[in-house]
Amino acid sequence: MRTVYVSEYPAIQHLHDNNDVVTVRLKRQNGELRATCADCDTEFVYRKPKKSSVRHFKSPLLPSVKGNFDSDDDH
Ligand SMILES: [Zn+2]
Repeated sequence: MRTVYVSEYPAIQHLHDNNDVVTVRLKRQNGELRATCADCDTEFVYRKPKKSSVRHFKSPLLPSVKGNFDSDDDH
């Protein structure tokens, strides 16, 4: 079984080889949120998205690029 870390909660959608989109729900187990899909032999483990510990500055070279991941103001 392979393990995949996800940052979505509570439902994980993933694609099977036959193009089925399958949804599994995370459940708390041993203090972690996990979901298992027996059909594709995958375990999903929830990991909180982490804020980067490195401070990022907007690049002065690309001032007009939209969707900068560090800017919260244009969503
Ligand atoms: Zn699956």
